[in-house]
Amino acid sequence: MRGTGRGRPGGTETGTETGTETGTETRAETGTGTRVVIVGGGPVGHRVAERLRHHGHDGPVTLLDAEPGPAYHRVLLPSLLDGTLTPADLRLPDLPDVRLRHGVSAAGIDRRRRQVRTTEHDRVPYDTLVLATGARPHLPPVPGLRHASGWLVDGVTGLRSLADCARVRGDEIVVLGGGPLGVETAAALRRGGRNVTLVHPGPYPLDDRLDAAAGGLLTRHLAELGVRLELGRVAAGVLPGKLALDDEWLLAWDTLLCCTGVRPRTRLAAAAGLAVRTGVLVDGEGRTSDPAIRAVGDCTEPADSLFTGWEQAEAVARSLTGRRVPYGGDAWRRPVFRLRVPGLTLGVLGDGGAGAGDGAGAGAGAGAEIVTYRDPARGRYARLALDPAGRLTSAVLVGLPQALATLTQLYDTGAPLPTSRLALLLGRPAPRSGPLPALPPEAVVCRCNNVTKAALADAFAVGAREPGALADATRATTGCGSCAEEVRGLCREFAESTP
Ligand SMILES: Cc1cc2nc3c(=O)[nH]c(=O)nc-3n(C[C@H](O)[C@H](O)[C@H](O)COP(=O)(O)OP(=O)(O)OC[C@H]3O[C@@H](n4cnc5c(N)ncnc54)[C@H](O)[C@@H]3O)c2cc1C
Repeated sequence: MRGTGRGRPGGTETGTETGTETGTETRAETGTGTRVVIVGGGPVGHRVAERLRHHGHDGPVTLLDAEPGPAYHRVLLPSLLDGTLTPADLRLPDLPDVRLRHGVSAAGIDRRRRQVRTTEHDRVPYDTLVLATGARPHLPPVPGLRHASGWLVDGVTGLRSLADCARVRGDEIVVLGGGPLGVETAAALRRGGRNVTLVHPGPYPLDDRLDAAAGGLLTRHLAELGVRLELGRVAAGVLPGKLALDDEWLLAWDTLLCCTGVRPRTRLAAAAGLAVRTGVLVDGEGRTSDPAIRAVGDCTEPADSLFTGWEQAEAVARSLTGRRVPYGGDAWRRPVFRLRVPGLTLGVLGDGGAGAGDGAGAGAGAGAEIVTYRDPARGRYARLALDPAGRLTSAVLVGLPQALATLTQLYDTGAPLPTSRLALLLGRPAPRSGPLPALPPEAVVCRCNNVTKAALADAFAVGAREPGALADATRATTGCGSCAEEVRGLCREFAESTP
């Protein structure tokens, strides 16, 4: 992927934009001809570049990325491990009119001259710098995981990049960490035919999001896939080809995959003297402690922690192009989690049921209504918490795809549930419940590919009239597939409102 138009493309080119003269020139923070430099070409940095052009930014945009190839959907990396996708399938859309420099890192920031020093030994001047340096895997301090030099032992890796995927080899894989990444990765590797053991300190995977009933169904599904589970255990020491657990049990590994969290990459920002705590401190429009420098995505610590990287990218792009941001719409702020394990629908809306144990009522406020539905034989479970007005405040659902789609819509719009909760959970039409409220255009339907309802409507309007065509046009449903039901529903909705 190479830039066209303004600036010259290329990751190896040096010196084309260097020089203190242009670098010290002071221009308005926004406006015609403003030079924007983005450091980091992950999904959020890529998104900033795309949205800048979308909102009419006409100055040069340069994007530096340490990774050697084109930007890609990081969340879909497990699909490489089970062989369902290739790296080419993960590629993000090209960025016309952006000068892309892949394989080039920012080595330092000269804030006085407003220049970025690169690992190619050149300097790139900016009027606005956007840091999108993301996060790196955090590996636990287990004895033997690293050499004395600090380098990881061969075969030990995190999972954050294409390069990390390429490091996964051999038949025996031990995955440390039963959070979403560990679970999705373990399931993908198993589907790809490897022997997988998942080690997790909690009583069941995702125990910080699920109640015990949902956790039990997830554990059962993983075991049926053939994933071996070491629950309630932690890694105590790494030996050559073996992992010692705290009960002294030894697990053989060819690859030891640590899905044990991430930490924001803040070294560049901190070295430049920007205010950094856990992440780079930013306001709602990505401003750091230096007004000429914004930061977005996983490297940041936003004032409002519910802002996603996508929202930050949009906010920064709008702000830099002089547009105000419709920020803080309720629909944008509601946390929705869907596990990407094919064959299992599992979703959590709000804080789900963590801490609810196996009973109803825990975690719900006064006057709240708790609806619980259990059908373990069919692998189905739901626990909904509603406020006194009948609006969903949190939910955990397993094995109920249609109900998850409908409830996500109700949750996003903040509308009350139909009176027949059971009919809704079983996906049957609910008499006297009235039509569901329409999803707002900016609602993200496909969270893997960040496809909004508006994007689907646009594709429909220009001829993508059935779900398959919508998927081809927008990539919706091509990630985990858990939005397929919603996309089908929207397709029907668009068809009904089209003359
Ligand atoms: C398998 C997987 C599944 C995930 N699933 C979800 C999910 O379901 N929901 C969710 O919200 N999130 C999920 N995430 C996390 C999500 O991928 C991140 O939130 C997202 O990638 C953040 O994007 P970013 O652009 O801020 O940072 P990153 O994706 O980390 O990208 C940062 C980029 O900056 C580059 N960089 C760093 N320092 C420099 C430098 N000095 N110079 C130049 N370049 C630099 C890096 O090489 C990297 O390419 C998942 C992650 C993985 C790995």
